[in-house]
Amino acid sequence: MYDLIIIGSGPAGLSAAVYAKRAGLSTLVLEKNPMSGGQVLNTYEVDNYLGMPGINGFDLGMQFREHADRLGVEFVEADVRGIGTCNGFHIVKTARHTFRARAIIIAAGAAHRKLAVPGEERLAGRGISYCATCDGAFFRGKTVAVIGGGDVAVEDAIFLARSCKKVYVVHRREELRAAKILQNKLFSLPNVEMVWNCTVSEIEGGEQVTGIVLWDRKEEERRQLAVDGVFIAVGIVPNTKAFLDVAPTDENGYLEAGEDCRTSVPGIFAAGDIRTKRLRQIVTAVSDGANAVASVQEYLM
Ligand code: NAP
Repeated sequence: MYDLIIIGSGPAGLSAAVYAKRAGLSTLVLEKNPMSGGQVLNTYEVDNYLGMPGINGFDLGMQFREHADRLGVEFVEADVRGIGTCNGFHIVKTARHTFRARAIIIAAGAAHRKLAVPGEERLAGRGISYCATCDGAFFRGKTVAVIGGGDVAVEDAIFLARSCKKVYVVHRREELRAAKILQNKLFSLPNVEMVWNCTVSEIEGGEQVTGIVLWDRKEEERRQLAVDGVFIAVGIVPNTKAFLDVAPTDENGYLEAGEDCRTSVPGIFAAGDIRTKRLRQIVTAVSDGANAVASVQEYLM
């Protein structure tokens, strides 16, 4: 029996673990992956986390984990299947075990959104990637396309332009969503070409990706682009599959919770990218971890 179980070990979960431990709560963190840090681990460079300009995402993730370790936080690697209640306590069911706690913070984060076009599933890992920092090295000297117009797409394109011969950035509108500072950097790179107003309708290739078929929304015509690799960065979807019957979600599937991270279910809290919020950043996830624990403490009293 724990005071608190935290599901997820990204910035929100680890921040919550640090605050919970310091508050003297008996705490268990359940993490799905063998490595803590969540999406941060796949970020080449984080330039907007206060006090750590330009830090590598992997290093930042490791530092978050070391902080929790230093306080003696208990971690168990487990895939959570669902949450139930029993005699007023919350039960967390994993593939192998069942854990009990008085309060739960769901900080399971979010995952890459798929394009859902022909060829995507078949060629995943054969020229299609969702992580430039993980797979970029395989495309040294080659031509690639990055799909998307957000921070991640632009960061990925900047990263890939360092080693690839040519990088196309395919965006469905004529304006990027990414931060201006990233856009300025992107537009200054000589081997980056913007492909505006285009959506991907198919990814082509036999054993490996050879190109993409685009639909030009402005010209209303089909276009083809020969590329060796496709990096898909079209946003994220919340990891709520195991929690859909636990607490209400909004129309996009995010767990409904305010700044205090309380869901409408007593004792169940949501923190980080998985909850409804305006800005999904490392700093807001870390902030959620602290707020969630403050709410847990109030609840437990
Ligand atoms: P995002 O900001 O939601 O951007 C997704 C992009 O993909 C948008 O440009 C969107 O187009 C496009 N898109 C969505 N669905 C598409 C589809 N089916 N086909 C083609 N294009 C599609 O997602 P993100 O870039 O992954 O970033 C996720 C969150 O993490 C954001 O809040 C971001 O600011 C944050 N982030 C933070 C940091 C940091 O703290 N350092 C770093 C990276 C990311 P539209 O623009 O037309 O909607």
